[in-house]
Amino acid sequence: MKLNIAILPGDGVGPEVIAEAEKVLNSVGEKFKHDLAIEKGLIGGDSIDKMGTALPEETVKLCQTSDAVLFGAVGGPKWDSASAKVRPEDGILAIRKQLGLFANIRPVKAYKSLIHSSPLKSDLLTGVDMVIVRELTGGLYFSKPKKRWANKNGRQGVDTLRYSEKEIVRIMRVAFELALKRKCKVTSVDKFNVLETGRLWREIANEVGSQYPQVQLEHMLVDNAAMQLVRNPANFDVIVSENTFGDILSDEAAVLTGSMGMLPSASLSGVIAESTFTSKASLYEPIHGSAPDIQGKGIANPIAAILSMAMMLRYSFGLLDEASIVESAVEEVLYEGYRTADLVTDDSPVLSTSVMGDYISNKVKLL
Ligand code: NAD
Repeated sequence: MKLNIAILPGDGVGPEVIAEAEKVLNSVGEKFKHDLAIEKGLIGGDSIDKMGTALPEETVKLCQTSDAVLFGAVGGPKWDSASAKVRPEDGILAIRKQLGLFANIRPVKAYKSLIHSSPLKSDLLTGVDMVIVRELTGGLYFSKPKKRWANKNGRQGVDTLRYSEKEIVRIMRVAFELALKRKCKVTSVDKFNVLETGRLWREIANEVGSQYPQVQLEHMLVDNAAMQLVRNPANFDVIVSENTFGDILSDEAAVLTGSMGMLPSASLSGVIAESTFTSKASLYEPIHGSAPDIQGKGIANPIAAILSMAMMLRYSFGLLDEASIVESAVEEVLYEGYRTADLVTDDSPVLSTSVMGDYISNKVKLL
């Protein structure tokens, strides 16, 4: 099969972890005789330096004409000035919007062999296997007005939280369809008691939920959800939330898995088919950022990027065996005790980013 893939490494540890995902992808290509057509594009701070924009038109075209996009991370202190006219993060926000990627799927699984890497008690983590479905192209990140100004009362700023019925219905459908293939439970997270959008969110969750009688729907206020995630995480199956809440809750959920370097994600334009999600030019990325504190040290954990690539094989290409082999390779390498620095809790040897990539890539060949 021919796989047309755009790779956008971005900034900081983005290129470091994406190089390892590409290494493992090459092993999959060789093993299963797929023809990989990979093209790289600029985005973020790297692109600002070279092109003066966080998302050049060439990158948009490349993504639109590819079957899937694998993305690293953007951002860093170099581009962080409060007065900056263009920011690296503008690039990823714009490409999500341009490709219509409204559904961000974030699986959170506590691997048995990593249970001791989490600061939480191990008995709380047994059985943790959930998916966070984050609305990605609406809410506070995109709604207008969004601006800064100054008047006689000093500096002012405004962001807007707006959702339409259509935006909520389509993300709810993704969540309910996913739940049908899992443990048939959806937890819809909102701020019903304070926000108008929260009340609309809950109303529509109930309406869509009524079309899925097999799925148990529960509502949870976001503050309670933040607490339940560390108190009783195994209780969740599918969590669906608006953009900002989903961003924050999934970073919190990363702690359950032992590290930010473990959580992959898929951003889909969401058409749901019989057995899988099919959508044009979906984008796959680790949930972590550019981690400037560890950039260039060769110690970033590449597993989130590698698992994002596995999600790409599954959702964009329907290559279920290939995706499962990558996931099993990660699981086995962890089971055998190999760790990057972020996961080490004892005196086990620490693997560099690139050696972890080698181990997983070799394991794919063996499985
Ligand atoms: P971050 O996710 O980059 O880092 C948070 C912490 O997790 C850091 O201690 C970091 O070292 C650690 N970490 C992250 N990825 C890791 C990995 N693969 N292996 C081991 N440890 C890892 O979040 P931050 O520090 O808040 O943000 C840094 C920059 O990244 C900012 O400029 C921010 O805007 C940007 N950012 C980008 C994205 C994106 O591109 N999608 C997402 C979040 C943050």
